[in-house]
Amino acid sequence: MSPRPPRVAGATLALLAAAAAVTAGDAPRRSVTYAAHTMGTYAHLIIVTADSSASSPAALAAERELARLDSLMTNWTTTSEVARLNREAGVRPTVVDSEVAIVIQRSLRLWRETNGAFDITVEPLVRLWGFLGGPRRVPADTEVREAFRHVGAQRVHFDSLTRVIRFDEPGVRIDLGGIAKGYAVDAAARALRAAGVTDALVDLTGNMFAMGTPAGSDHWRIGIRDPRDRMPYFARIDLEPGEGISTSAKYEQFVAQDGRTYGHIMDPRTGRPAEGLISVTVVSSSGFECDAWDTPLFVLGGAGARALAKRHDSFGAILVSPGTSGVDTVWVESSLAGRFTLEPAAASIFHVEIF
Ligand code: ADP
Ligand code: MG
Repeated sequence: MSPRPPRVAGATLALLAAAAAVTAGDAPRRSVTYAAHTMGTYAHLIIVTADSSASSPAALAAERELARLDSLMTNWTTTSEVARLNREAGVRPTVVDSEVAIVIQRSLRLWRETNGAFDITVEPLVRLWGFLGGPRRVPADTEVREAFRHVGAQRVHFDSLTRVIRFDEPGVRIDLGGIAKGYAVDAAARALRAAGVTDALVDLTGNMFAMGTPAGSDHWRIGIRDPRDRMPYFARIDLEPGEGISTSAKYEQFVAQDGRTYGHIMDPRTGRPAEGLISVTVVSSSGFECDAWDTPLFVLGGAGARALAKRHDSFGAILVSPGTSGVDTVWVESSLAGRFTLEPAAASIFHVEIF
């Protein structure tokens, strides 16, 4: 890990203006950014400190934590705990690693809370469309039907006390890609805190957690990327200390065919990529919860997503639905309205509604 400038290129969320060095009391506080490649993406740790050399052991501890969780939860290797479960749990019951068990248990509860919109058994579909393993392609209907036969979290039997898991048949496979990054940002933040860091931003491309305050400001100010990439970010939002934010959007990973784009979030009701929204942002006091909710909100789309967000006070949501004639609608939940700012340049291409 080496110090890097704090601007995050290509991320779904961008940190705005954290570079200032400010004198608070005796020692000047400045931010030092560490970058590491993990979880198939870039992690940036922005640590605010009066002694930049002292921050590197903390950054290293957090980076180790991210690498450890990646090696447990990724579906991109054959050696992870999730890959092992996918080989074994359809054949015989097996005991799950304790942290993977936390993520699986939260996922199964979320499946019930969202009437199946969040479903970790979408793995065969994600793989079929090439979002896992690749190459990305639009499969034939017969292939979708075949993969779909194995999808449905009712096929997963998990006892959280004994941590024993069993799948109904060997074709059932799980994918924690919709929730694991949120667990990881919280774990990285805990590692920083344990190493004495009080002010930092953990940024796992689209999933962030804010500790304390940045240098020179009383809030971590985050930009939300324009889902159509006409500008770097279309809006900004201030995070309170101890808050997470995550964004799921279609631009990140998609396959295009015949003028249509298909994103990497699957609708478990149809077996096809979810349509309706182009971007979902969630803010809450837990990075894990932010990542948990952004995916099912994306699946449910417009009215369904707004109703789900309204039913839960533990998080706030910002949803972008595509409009005709070049104007998209940003739906901002009323709990976030006071700290949501549309960029002046975005005013002609986004219409804001509070819900
Ligand atoms: P990102 O990974 O872009 O931050 P998400 O948190 O929405 O965005 O996660 C998307 C990933 O979640 C997909 O790449 C896939 O691994 C997984 N996934 C796709 N559809 C679903 C679904 N309906 N329920 C649970 N996980 C899903
Ligand atoms: Mg998610």
